[in-house]
Amino acid sequence: MIKFLDLHKINEQYRTQIDERIKNVLDSGWYLLGKEDENFEEHFASYCGAKYCVSCGNGLDALMLIIKAYGFGKGDEIIVPANTYIASILAISYNGCTPVLVEPDINTYNINPDLIEEKITAKTKAIMVVHLYGQAVQMDKIWALAKKYNLKVIEDSAQAHGAGVKINGDLRKAGNLGDASGFSFYPGKNLGCLGDGGAVTTNDKELADKVRALRNYGSNIKYHNIYQGVNSRLDEIQAAVLDAKLPYLDKDNQRRREIANYYLANINNKKIIMRKSYQELANVWHVFPVRTEKRDEFQQYLKDNDIQTLIHYPIPPHKQECYKEWNNLSLPVTEEIHRTIISIPISPVMTDTEAEKVVEVINRY
Ligand SMILES: *Cc1c(COP(=O)(O)O)cnc(C)c1O
Repeated sequence: MIKFLDLHKINEQYRTQIDERIKNVLDSGWYLLGKEDENFEEHFASYCGAKYCVSCGNGLDALMLIIKAYGFGKGDEIIVPANTYIASILAISYNGCTPVLVEPDINTYNINPDLIEEKITAKTKAIMVVHLYGQAVQMDKIWALAKKYNLKVIEDSAQAHGAGVKINGDLRKAGNLGDASGFSFYPGKNLGCLGDGGAVTTNDKELADKVRALRNYGSNIKYHNIYQGVNSRLDEIQAAVLDAKLPYLDKDNQRRREIANYYLANINNKKIIMRKSYQELANVWHVFPVRTEKRDEFQQYLKDNDIQTLIHYPIPPHKQECYKEWNNLSLPVTEEIHRTIISIPISPVMTDTEAEKVVEVINRY
């Protein structure tokens, strides 16, 4: 069986380092918001090219805390792609803001920048871009709109550690493409810990300080609560594991890219539609999505050939039971993507033989 994502094998690569770092935490007697956390925050900020990184409990909290820290709430609108993972949208509605759904581009699956301006109203406070499936959003038009209408740009970078946009040959990474960015370190992400974890990156000191207080009950100095905060901390074990794995992230992403390029060059079947990549962007292939008309049949066919797949995602947010008020909205591009999309195996630990088998089986479909 070719696994969709062999998490055991991914972490096994760094077994020695992880074991040692976990042991150090146990020995230290300090388990939350300590040295490991500070080190990781510093290293991850520097990796992203951002001035500040504030860790937190998970990716949803990272996004939720950014919106809370900006003080956006009831009556405020935030623009978000309609086909994102539901967490992006939950972070908005949790704060009482109204998510304004914008259709994606059918070729890239990222937000269609040409459809944003018509959705901007006097209540719009921010544009949330989602670097979906590991491909950074083309930011030029979004930066221009943010400037024109005085909006914040919030990045959902949960699937895009190390992805970015090449500007004059230099890579500007997710985490440094907006005013603030939320990351998840859920085990299956490109940089994953051994449980839940998340972080906010930003160049805005005031925002960083506020998120730092908010994640810890709203307190800046112990037992001085300046905000009504939450408890969303990254524990020292997870911070240590992330810090141990961070130096290998580029290598792991490069291996994903090799497999993706191999797929792009060799999958050749009229029934399979590949995603368009923007050339100037560095894609980290969090997943490798393809689209096909008879998706469920294709998934069964791959399963019969011992290839595990997943669907990101089967139901669009506006069709979910929790957002009943949107169930009748018509978002044809989003719905078409959800009807036809399927993710085939890609991971840093996949072998050439496995990738070859995936191609051979798909071309035979
Ligand atoms: C995983 C993910 C999140 C949420 O991260 P958690 O750590 O699971 O809370 C948010 N947005 C996107 C696009 C994601 O893929």
